[in-house]
Amino acid sequence: MTAPVRARSSADLIRAEEPVLAHNYHPLPVVVARAEGSWVEDVEGRRYLDMLAGYSALNFGHRHPALIEAAHRQLDTLTLTSRAFHNDRLAEFAESLAALTGLDMVLPMNTGAEAVESAIKVARKWAYEVKGVPADQATIVVAADNFHGRTTTIVSFSTDPLARTGFGPFTPGFRIVPYDDLPALEAAIDETTAAVLIEPIQGEAGVVIPDEGYLRGVRDVTRRAGCLFIADEIQSGLGRTGRTLAVDHEDVVPDAVLLGKALGGGIVPVSAVVARREVLSVLRPGEHGSTFGGNPLAAAVGSAVVDLLHTGEFQHRAAELGVLLREGLASLVGKGVLGFRARGLWAGVDIDPTLGTGRDISHRLMTHGILVKDTHGSTIRLAPPLTITAEELVSALGTLEEVLRKGA
Ligand SMILES: *Cc1c(COP(=O)(O)O)cnc(C)c1O
Repeated sequence: MTAPVRARSSADLIRAEEPVLAHNYHPLPVVVARAEGSWVEDVEGRRYLDMLAGYSALNFGHRHPALIEAAHRQLDTLTLTSRAFHNDRLAEFAESLAALTGLDMVLPMNTGAEAVESAIKVARKWAYEVKGVPADQATIVVAADNFHGRTTTIVSFSTDPLARTGFGPFTPGFRIVPYDDLPALEAAIDETTAAVLIEPIQGEAGVVIPDEGYLRGVRDVTRRAGCLFIADEIQSGLGRTGRTLAVDHEDVVPDAVLLGKALGGGIVPVSAVVARREVLSVLRPGEHGSTFGGNPLAAAVGSAVVDLLHTGEFQHRAAELGVLLREGLASLVGKGVLGFRARGLWAGVDIDPTLGTGRDISHRLMTHGILVKDTHGSTIRLAPPLTITAEELVSALGTLEEVLRKGA
């Protein structure tokens, strides 16, 4: 007789990771085994409200029925072809994503970093072929405190020492200016500039929202200078801020928009560069590619995500519930909260550092059944699924108040 298989406890599983898993993350000690909607459940059956939503990869909650159904249907039909052949899902995905963003063409990739890398390559090629920048002279202007991903080229223009130190030599061709500073941006642009690449709201930096007019200013400056405006909406996009894209708050249409995270519906990695025809037309066969980019499973899930967004329901929910979030956070200012920045269902909350680090607060919230993640120092980020109910949101804010009241 064989011994009954004993399920491994959370503590066992955390211990088991230590010697065999790279330590590039420092997760909270919760081991998630199941999830549905806004809730996750750990190995021992404890339930937690997910107020991080996979850094906005789970905008529609865990296992949204329409997305799961689209994925199941596609799994039963066709999963991968490579781009050596056409697949019957890609046309619809590209059409609907272009329509959603008001842009013309789609370059499908997988992860966010790949979309950023692809946009950098496209912008450089556009600079040489369309703008007439001399070979290998193109520059791209970016903002300090940016987060665009983890590849060698992308960390080359990060200002976060943790992201960069030990990873050189770095890719040249980037100029870093302060965020939300139009004069500095304008001064950094010259005849070699291919593009300005920014986040319309800086998520990892702590949900930093630029002053009203900044995004319109970036649009004006780049248009006048004859360079591209590339908006990294990988975290800010797809309903999070109460509009489809964060740039929609200023009625701005960039030359290229980068999407990822929620585009995969929390099921598969799906990213894309969506751009004006003139921009993406610089790519010809063989010049860029991805084995998995645009695969039929990704396209089916991505199309289902875009269908959800075409209804406007989620943008509306984020805007409405965002009012509750702002009111709730405003009532905590002076009660452990020093300040906060919020747009839609997205907030960076600066906790009084005497109460603990962002990680301490996240840990205490976890023991009270709420999952969040710190960004830097004593700032925590709230980004619940857009499917969260008003009651769940109010209850989470109540728990935050209680945790702050109890102090360190
Ligand atoms: C997460 C993120 C990325 C990178 O996405 P990955 O899928 O992790 O490579 C790029 N830009 C922004 C703004 C992000 O939030």
